[in-house]
Amino acid sequence: MAFRCTKPTPHPVKTLAYEPWELEIKPFQVAPQTWYVAGQTWVGCYLIDTGDGLILLDTAIPESLYLLVDSIYRLGYKPEDIKKILISHAHFDHCGAAAAMKKLTGAELYMSKEDTEFMKACPEETMVLDPDSHPQMFEVDKYYSDDEPITLGNISIRTMLTPGHTIGCTSFFWDVKNPANGETYVVGMHGGVGGNTMNDGYYSTSKYLTPDLRERFFNDCEKVKSIHVDIALPSHPNQIEIVDRAGQYTDESQPYLDDTVWADFVEERVRQVKALMK
Ligand SMILES: [Zn+2]
Repeated sequence: MAFRCTKPTPHPVKTLAYEPWELEIKPFQVAPQTWYVAGQTWVGCYLIDTGDGLILLDTAIPESLYLLVDSIYRLGYKPEDIKKILISHAHFDHCGAAAAMKKLTGAELYMSKEDTEFMKACPEETMVLDPDSHPQMFEVDKYYSDDEPITLGNISIRTMLTPGHTIGCTSFFWDVKNPANGETYVVGMHGGVGGNTMNDGYYSTSKYLTPDLRERFFNDCEKVKSIHVDIALPSHPNQIEIVDRAGQYTDESQPYLDDTVWADFVEERVRQVKALMK
């Protein structure tokens, strides 16, 4: 199945605040050792079983936290099995529940230095963006380094600073082995591609983000799209359709294995940001 994106969820924050069950989805596997565990279909959170503890990518918002925790238990894990929480970028929809998850799990929390400073300097552009969500500020334990993968068990996550959507957006890449045939796949998740913060209207009011970030995004995307990714995961499920195959995963069938999706996705996002410049 080739790359396909779908329409964004209308009024997602209000829905998750008042009728979260409307967006509920049970956890589902997307790659070897890797599950979609957000519990809702608006913002992605992924759980990686490293064989020696779990890594969680993003936490979504406090209003859907119970669905995230429920997903973790449904897979047979416990929140305290999570040793590391990696945040893609400092917007409340990806890290609004980070404080609660850090408290619940005792995990080490990672975010880029750039976005940590952005969050502290500009809560109104990062955390306090929607009156229906009540995110909590949090302390970051470790910053990413592009030269130093984050390793736990048999998983090493390579991080790449990919600014644009925020100043410290971080993309993640890791290798997994298919136990059915011994093949190795690269799994990738871009840290943030939304054009909502890469347009002149946004720049005219922002205290922190400037148009050179958009140029950096275009330049980086050339590099990013040339990275070989076998299984491309979205940070919002509408960006790359994955929910349509929820529950279909087996090691033998690999419904998300398609190494054409990543480059098509990156190109499509560049096209969308350029369209906003016209
Ligand atoms: Zn964002």
